[in-house]
Amino acid sequence: EQYLTRRVLSMQESQTMRISNLANKMKAEGRDIVSLSAGEPDFPTPAHVNQAGIDAINAGFTRYTANSGIADLKKAIVEKFRRDNGLEFQENQIIVSNGGKQTLANTFLALCEEGDEVIVPAPYWVSFPEMVRLAGGIPVIIHTTLEEEYKMTPAQLDAAITPKTKIVVLNSPSNPTGAVYTEAEVRALMKVVEGRGIFVVSDEMYDMIVYGDVRPFSPARIPEMKEWVIVSNGVSKTYAMTGWRIGYLAGPKWLIDACDKIQSQTTSNPNAIAQKAAVAALTGDQGIVEERRAEFEKRRDYMYEALNSIPGFKTALPQGAFYIFPDISGLLGQTFDGVVMKDSADVAEYLLKVHHVATVPGDAFGAPENLRMSYAASIASLEEAINRIRRAFK
Ligand code: PLP
Repeated sequence: EQYLTRRVLSMQESQTMRISNLANKMKAEGRDIVSLSAGEPDFPTPAHVNQAGIDAINAGFTRYTANSGIADLKKAIVEKFRRDNGLEFQENQIIVSNGGKQTLANTFLALCEEGDEVIVPAPYWVSFPEMVRLAGGIPVIIHTTLEEEYKMTPAQLDAAITPKTKIVVLNSPSNPTGAVYTEAEVRALMKVVEGRGIFVVSDEMYDMIVYGDVRPFSPARIPEMKEWVIVSNGVSKTYAMTGWRIGYLAGPKWLIDACDKIQSQTTSNPNAIAQKAAVAALTGDQGIVEERRAEFEKRRDYMYEALNSIPGFKTALPQGAFYIFPDISGLLGQTFDGVVMKDSADVAEYLLKVHHVATVPGDAFGAPENLRMSYAASIASLEEAINRIRRAFK
């Protein structure tokens, strides 16, 4: 181990994995576990998308493709940005990668000089700080509160900026909180960074999973920021295609070219078959996206009501994605079934071991007094989970 680099040693192991490994082990032992820990839709990939993959194999579309993705997929992505996000990009401003994850990793590798600061609002998606560290950057965390619906304010952003600030990360809708910044909020945040040589990495992975009349607003819509915003998205969540590994990035051509160079020397093109399937997903009937969004909204409503009626749980109303992130500080210091709840990891472990409900402790997301629950599960499973949670904290 002494031979490992500082870069790797500075990374943390994924906490999400520890509890899900334990949950899987208990399931394998035949225990009836209700899992609220999934980071992916419980729906299958749509049939016409699967068929496009099968057709690609049968047509022999099984070789290397252009490193940055096939032309018809880039065309479909340009069209998607126009249709869903009100964004105009050229095809040479797009790169397709192995999931949203690789688009983000490439971006941080391309932009972070050793010691550059990257502002990451917490609660954050677990991979942001670790990817920044791997690229040699320093994550600078801004802590947001339940009262502010887990959104950073322009004043907080301004206070976190130093001469070393290179990037601000925005993730709206957010994993894990479900927070969505309004257009006015995005504009106010962009006013803070505009003209200061700071890039904005906008992770819009959950843009199509939003509730009520909430609509996400991309900072790339602001003309003054166009050269400074990098948009990451993918087909994983919108089309239930997490295993296909297709993500895409849009931004200034010079940055896309740099990501292309990194990708060409590391992984090469994303999977050829999956690229064809992604074309079918983006250009085919979009009805299924709305159907599933509506189903997620019912579950969101149920979970919000149910959790807030359990003493010790306080949650903001998620506006998007498929997670709810209750504050459980009211449970800390208490004893249940003889177990003392010191932190959210204790709460998650107790829920799993004694009541067989799998959740993810908030530490991994930079919020040690919260639990992440995914409602990518049927209403029946959610009801069962809520009954068990209610019993656990009686
Ligand atoms: N960004 C966010 C906010 C996510 O939650 C995820 C997946 O969990 C990703 C990016 C990565 O998605 P992909 O599976 O396409 O790499």
